[in-house]
Amino acid sequence: MERINVFDTTLRDGQQSPGSAFDIEKKIEVARQLHRLKVNVIEAGFPVASKADFDSVRIISTELKDISICAFSRAIRGDIEVAAKAFNGSSNGRIQIVTPVSDLHLKTRLGKNREQGLDLIKSSLKIAKDLFAEVSWIGEDSSRADPSYLLDAFNIAVDNGAKFVTYADTVGYALPEEISKNIKAIAKSINSKAIVGIHCHNDLGLAVANTLSAISSGAQEVQCTLNGVGERAGNASLEEVVMAMQVRKNNIDAFTEVDSRLLSVSCNMVANFSNSPIAKNKPIIGANAFAHSSGMHQHGVIANSENYEIIKPSDIGRNSNTIVIGKHSGRHGVRHVLEEAGVLIKDDKLKILMQQIKSLDDDKYLSSRELVLLLEKLNGI
Ligand code: MN
Repeated sequence: MERINVFDTTLRDGQQSPGSAFDIEKKIEVARQLHRLKVNVIEAGFPVASKADFDSVRIISTELKDISICAFSRAIRGDIEVAAKAFNGSSNGRIQIVTPVSDLHLKTRLGKNREQGLDLIKSSLKIAKDLFAEVSWIGEDSSRADPSYLLDAFNIAVDNGAKFVTYADTVGYALPEEISKNIKAIAKSINSKAIVGIHCHNDLGLAVANTLSAISSGAQEVQCTLNGVGERAGNASLEEVVMAMQVRKNNIDAFTEVDSRLLSVSCNMVANFSNSPIAKNKPIIGANAFAHSSGMHQHGVIANSENYEIIKPSDIGRNSNTIVIGKHSGRHGVRHVLEEAGVLIKDDKLKILMQQIKSLDDDKYLSSRELVLLLEKLNGI
């Protein structure tokens, strides 16, 4: 079974999500949490972009010595040198140099042709090699690049010292089959001389599917963020990628070292710090991810949680599944919630209580406390 490196970019790409940047104290707290979560690499910032990013890389790489800390950089000497300064001699520093590989980006952003694009990879990696123990390169807009040029770019990067080479679906354009085809071709062409990485965006809601497709096709490092925060519609969500691999390890045949029991607390921390509440129906960590309100599902889950749950709430650090009482709930669910609250109910009382529950408004759901109050009110009559 293949070990997959988890490269978290919550503190770099995640911070590029409008309105969700947070201050240095919070970044350090998130980095410590990522360290406890046992990701393999933390991308801590883009040092030339702001003093906050520079400080983030400097402080986090100084404090967390036993984990790889990455700085993002353009293929510009000044950027690379500032990134090196941010590490201040720390030995755990890694740089990720980005250059575009699609004709569109090369021409309209940099005014360069394909040949000049390859020269840029070569010259920037040469500078970085002297300053960093670990050098990585990421091909911006890989999914819209000419496939044969893409292979040339990956090979130039490897031949010039990149130990990690990453395919970026920068605009979330790729389909899983295309990712699979491209990653297989890249992995074959570079022939284990470097680790192939994948970086996906979620513009079409495919970031996690594309990331999993890349893993099955030979990628060994996944770039992702907690809660999927990131530019525009966001990045591949770390918790979804990790849990998909864990739940479907029979099919994916790869594993991560992430401690999934810390996912819930880690995701909530980022949601709080970035003022981005987690959607109720968000896979893995949404409030409703383990909530069951229909009578049939409640009965099934109480009988055996595997009936309607593929993940145990405790696997991601949540206390238990939630039975939500509303007009569609059944006797089993109601009795269960009352028993959890320490209240035993006789069948005749339950029958009367059920009549009250069935007449609740469509949008009314009762907490355990409200359910006990309703029962107490009935008892008083
Ligand atoms: Mn990105």
